[in-house]
Amino acid sequence: MENKDYQILLYYCYAKIDNPEEYREQHHLFCIENNIRGRIIISDEGLNGTVSGLKEDTEKYMAYIHADPRFAKTEFKIDESEGHAFTKIHVRYKPEIVHSALRHLDPNVRTGKHLEPEEFRKMKDQEDVVILDVRSNYEHELGRFKNAITLDIDNFRDFPEKVKELDHLKGKKVLTYCTGGIKCEKASAFLLEQGFEDVYQLHGGIIKYGKEAQGEDFEGKCYVFDNRIAVEVNSVNPTVVSKCHVCSTPSDRMVNCANPTCNIHVPICESCGDKMEGACSTECKEHPEKRPYDGTGYYQKNLNGYNPYKGWKRGSAKELSS
Ligand SMILES: [Zn+2]
Ligand SMILES: [Zn+2]
Repeated sequence: MENKDYQILLYYCYAKIDNPEEYREQHHLFCIENNIRGRIIISDEGLNGTVSGLKEDTEKYMAYIHADPRFAKTEFKIDESEGHAFTKIHVRYKPEIVHSALRHLDPNVRTGKHLEPEEFRKMKDQEDVVILDVRSNYEHELGRFKNAITLDIDNFRDFPEKVKELDHLKGKKVLTYCTGGIKCEKASAFLLEQGFEDVYQLHGGIIKYGKEAQGEDFEGKCYVFDNRIAVEVNSVNPTVVSKCHVCSTPSDRMVNCANPTCNIHVPICESCGDKMEGACSTECKEHPEKRPYDGTGYYQKNLNGYNPYKGWKRGSAKELSS
């Protein structure tokens, strides 16, 4: 029987933080003391994180965030897990919680209308509706909504530039979606600013849609930013849309190239994985630093000397444990 004692949390909250550096330290310390791992970004405009921990620790973590009036409205997407989904904890200050080049937009002031998964499911096939995937190439190549418009971008900060190409959609209802909903807060706000009038966003993103609308009509898998890499969301009519990077047959088996200097994250089918020894190209296969391939395409990061207190600025580990 599977032992699912851990949980993975995905969340964000747009809320003004007046003292982000100070709050960052506090938040970081809480994570260390409660064995929470993952990636958290703290900025003047809010919080964004994916973390993992034992069930009881993640419950404490959610209570910690909710207890702060600034973040009381935070919604968590919760997945069960057999272990940590991260090897380390990073709590970083950044100017934005998602790098968007749209700092002037405040989703608390204006953003697209939020659609719950069930509302999105019912609305997405209507005639005057277009579905817009606001994520990057590596994400929508692995999975996307049926009939969605995708953008040729490698990073969300290139989204505003691409919107110029969407002018012909201005009279339609535009439904945006992303992984957990955070990018849509800014993306839909930007569309409104650019003169799109009827803009909606999938609240909670693909992850919540998978839980509440069984992922219907989401084709392929959803790329996630933790050790799981890709998750299933569609339990109604699942398909594979991505192709093996080597032989182009349908495959959603995500692998890190065995050449550590390449390390790209692409689908590689099982037989190509064996044949190429986990490398994405002949060049990478012959690279002198190529790592041995164990059939998974996953390489444990080197944790020698890892100190979770590193990056927590105020005190040393010694002072804190005494
Ligand atoms: Zn292949
Ligand atoms: Zn490679």
